[in-house]
Formats: sequence, C-alpha cells, structure tokens
Amino acid sequence: MILKNFEALKAYLETPRNIVIIGHKNPDGDAVGSTLGLKHYLDFKGHKAQVLMPNEFPDFLHWIPGVESVYRFDRQNNQSVKALKKSDIVFLLDFNALHRVGDDMQNTLEKYENHFALIDHHQQPDDFEYMYSDTEICSTCQMVYTFIEMMGDLNLIERNIATCLYTGIMTDTGSFRFRSTTSTTHRIIADLIDRGAENDKIHSKVYDANSFSRLQLLGQALSNLQVLPEYKTAFITLSQEEKNKYNYEKGDTEGVVNYALSLKNIVFAAIFIEDLEQGIIKISFRSKGSFSVNKFARSYFNGGGHDNAAGGRSTYTMEETVDEFRSLLPNYKEDLLVSYEE
Ligand code: 5GP
Ligand code: MN
Repeated sequence: MILKNFEALKAYLETPRNIVIIGHKNPDGDAVGSTLGLKHYLDFKGHKAQVLMPNEFPDFLHWIPGVESVYRFDRQNNQSVKALKKSDIVFLLDFNALHRVGDDMQNTLEKYENHFALIDHHQQPDDFEYMYSDTEICSTCQMVYTFIEMMGDLNLIERNIATCLYTGIMTDTGSFRFRSTTSTTHRIIADLIDRGAENDKIHSKVYDANSFSRLQLLGQALSNLQVLPEYKTAFITLSQEEKNKYNYEKGDTEGVVNYALSLKNIVFAAIFIEDLEQGIIKISFRSKGSFSVNKFARSYFNGGGHDNAAGGRSTYTMEETVDEFRSLLPNYKEDLLVSYEE
C-alpha cells in the first residue's frame, strides 16, 4: 500500500477547489462508480468536481447517479479542456499511468495540469504528487469508501454515493466472488446498503440489461471457445465480422472471457477480440490462483492489470495472435498445472 502526502491533500481540500476526476479509457463499472462516487462526495464538501472520461462507456452503466454530468473527452472536447484548464487538481481513478487515458487526453493533461492525486488498485503505479494505491483491494470504489473514511466523512455517504460505490465493487469482484473479495469488502457493502444502495436493483440494472443481439454474440463467442486441457487453458475469439453480424456495441463482450474460466479444471482464460477500426486484437486475460496474467500480459501483449485479470493488445492478425499465444503456453505448463488447487 502506498499513501503519499495524504495529510497535505486533506489540508488542501479544506479550501473549496475546482476538481477534475478522470477514469481510464473504455471505463468499466469501477471507473464510472468510483469517479462519480468521489464527485458526489467532493461536491458535498463544497468543491466543484467534474468527471471526464476519455471515451464512451457501456449502456448498462448509463443509469448511475450523476452520469449525465460526465464530459466525454472525445466528444465534448472543448468543455473537457476548459474544465482541465481551470482545475486546481486532477484525481486519477482506477488506472495507474497516464497513458491509460489515451494519447490525446494524456497530452492535454500533461499540458495543463501539475497536481495529480491517484486513487487506484492496479499494479506498478507511476509516481504522482498525492497517491493512494493498494493492489490488494478489489476495486477503486472500495478505496474511495476508505478514502472518505480517512477524511473523517463516512457520515456524508448517502444514497447516491452508496449506489456508485456499490456498483463498482460489485462489477470488479464479479459480484463478490473473486479472491480479492474480503470480509472488509462485505462490511463496506453492508454499510453501503444501510446508507441507501438498493442492492437488488443495482444487480438487475447492470446484469439484466442484455439486448437480444448481445446474447446472440455471446452464443457466437461460446461456439468459438477452444479448450487446451494440457495447459488448463481455454480461449475465445471474436472477429470483426462476427461482431458486425450481431450489431456489436461497446460493452457487449464485457465478462464473456469469464465463461472460458468457468470451465472445470481451467485456470487460464483469454478472449481475443478483433477491432479493425483500431487495427488491433484486444485481449482480456483471466486466471485462477497463482498464475499472474498481469505478468503475462505485460511480457507479451503490451498490457497489464492485476494478477487474475489483465488486458493487452496485438497489432498482428487474429490468426498470428492466437498462434503466438498458443506457442507461449508450453513455457508455462508447470505454472499452470499447479496454479490452483480445487
Ligand atoms: P479487461 O480485460 O476487463 O479489459 O481488463 C482487466 C483488467 O486489466 C482491468 O483492471 C484493466 O484496467 C486492465 N487492463 C486492460 N487492458 C489493459 C492494458 O492494455 N494495459 C494495462 N496496463 N492494463 C489493462
Ligand atoms: Mn477497477
């Protein structure tokens, strides 16, 4: 855990400030929940907080309290730059290095901003003026709760903040089932429910929001599933053509990789998703137990993340990317076989 200059930050926030809060590119439930949860809190404290996101986020997050106030850097560029220019400090949530917001936004940030405060749970964070980094914590939303607690302000957590934070903890823990889910997580979740998070409704809004075409895309993904039992590995591919056939929309492939990991005796799962617009294969990795997909993604696929959930990319074709992936597995045979005891 790194807690850097917290007392100085606390003192700095005793005066009302213009604050910008940023989540990572392709924001997920934890990025949206943590940025908006923190925004509501800072607004209650008398600051003016504005959330900026690099690009769009999935439909199933569009109901989160405060979502209509978010500026998208790619679409509302003027407003975003204006907000950055007049900001006193920028909070960076749910990512560990500035490049995770994309080139355009990173350049603008570096041009206008000198004061950064990081709250994040990803590994190997870059150094910022103020930092609260803890890779043991399941979600940035749980860290925002603890941040508010350290500020001595738990009493300010009301229904909207509770709803935002509940959502990100739920999505980043796979509904409270990943290894990172601790008894502290459950205590915080219980408190958030007491403070107004309607847990049944939140689950339903996020997970029962499928379109017919999304389920059909899932069907296609599952029929592309390949299993390599000798490496306890399974992977899924989705081509651009298949995505188009089922009217792919952002977020439609979220969580699909977990179906590969749900196979009995599989400890390593991957999904390869072709993105012709960006000219890349976007990859998600998941593992059970000690096999670190963060290291794997960093070493071979220009990515990173956490020990059991990471992402990366390849600029080669689908076939070449999958071939490379398969060719790497023999090097990890021993690690994979002992990774997880039932
Ligand atoms: P996902 O597979 O759901 O996109 O991402 C899993 C985890 O890995 C998330 O915590 C995400 O932030 C991180 N991640 C995904 N893609 C990348 C990447 O290209 N680089 C890095 N450093 N982390 C990534
Ligand atoms: Mn997260």
